[in-house]
Amino acid sequence: MSTTLPPPAAPLSIADLRSPDLMALQREAMAQDHARLHAHLDDFVAVPCPACGRTEATHAFEKYRCQFLRCRDCETLYMSPRPTPALMDDYYSHSENYRLWAERIFPASEANRREKLCRPMFDSIVEACRRHGVPTGHLVELGPGFGTFAELAKNSGEFVRVSVVERTPEMAASCRQRGLEVHECAAEDLPAGSSDMADVLVCFEVIEHVFDPAAFLAAASRLLRSGGLLVMTCPNGQGFDTATLGAASVAVDTEHVNLFNPRSMARLLSGCGYEVLDITTPGRLDVELVREAALQGSFEVKDQPFLRRVLIDEYERLGPALQRLLADQGLSGSMRVIARKA
Ligand SMILES: [Zn+2]
Repeated sequence: MSTTLPPPAAPLSIADLRSPDLMALQREAMAQDHARLHAHLDDFVAVPCPACGRTEATHAFEKYRCQFLRCRDCETLYMSPRPTPALMDDYYSHSENYRLWAERIFPASEANRREKLCRPMFDSIVEACRRHGVPTGHLVELGPGFGTFAELAKNSGEFVRVSVVERTPEMAASCRQRGLEVHECAAEDLPAGSSDMADVLVCFEVIEHVFDPAAFLAAASRLLRSGGLLVMTCPNGQGFDTATLGAASVAVDTEHVNLFNPRSMARLLSGCGYEVLDITTPGRLDVELVREAALQGSFEVKDQPFLRRVLIDEYERLGPALQRLLADQGLSGSMRVIARKA
C-alpha cells in the first residue's frame, strides 16, 4: 500500500456544504427519523466486526440509543445490534432527513460540492487511472444520489461512458434529468459479466451505511473488469474528529453503522479479493468540526489547554496547519480508498 497524496484542493469549510440556517431543520428531521427507528430497537440484530469478522469487542459508546462497539482486533467501530436490511430500507425510504437534504441542503450547496469535492476527486481518479494503467473506458458510480459527481464525470469527456446504479426512485430521476445513463436497481441486481462491466467503479460515502460490507464489496467486484479500479470514500473511525469527540462526532449517527479505519479497510478489501493500492485521508474539515463542537458546547476544552489553544485561541494560525498534518499522516476522519480487482 502506498501513501500517495491527492493533489491540493480549494479551501473548504463546513458552511460550504451545509448552510447554518438549515441545521435547526435538520435536527428536527433527524429527531423524527430517530423516533421511527426507536420503535424497532427490539428487532435490531447483533453482528460480528464488519471488517474482520471477529466477535470480541468492547463497548465504545451509545448514541441515539444505538450501541457502538470497537473490535478488539482491527479497531473498527460498528453498530451492534443494528437495523436489519429491511429496517434500513424502510428507514431510508421514509427519512425526513433525506427529504430535507434532497429539497434544501443539496440544492443550496451543489455548486460548492461540485467544485470543492467532486472536481478534485474526479481529477485524482483520472490521475489514478494513468498511474495504474487502467483504461478510462466505462466509469460506473454506485449510489450517485442526485448525480453531481457523475454529471461532472460525463461532461468532462475523460471517460468513454459514464453510468450510475441508483435504487432510490427520486434520485434515479434526478440522474436521468442530468442526461445520465441510469440502472435503477441495487448493485446486487445487475447482471454480472455483461457489457456493463466497469473499468472504474466509484462509490462515495456508501459503505459506512450498508448492513454487510463484505457482501456489498462482492457485488461491486462482479461489476468490475479484472484489473479495474474501485474508488471509495468513507469516514475513518480513527480520525481526529471521532477519536477526539467520540459519540459527539457527527460521523457517529444512526446511519453510519460501519466506521472503518485505514488498516481495517485494507483487511476487508484484501479478504474480498481486491488489491489495495492506496488508502489516504484527504479530509479537510476535522479541525473545524472539533472546533465547532467546542464552540457549541458538546465538547469541553476548558481543561484541555493544548486543544483550546489550537481550536480557539490561535485557530487562524494553528488550525489549518493541524488539518494539513492530519490529512498527510492518515489521521483525518475522511478516508479515500483505491483498490484493484485482483
Ligand atoms: Zn475487526
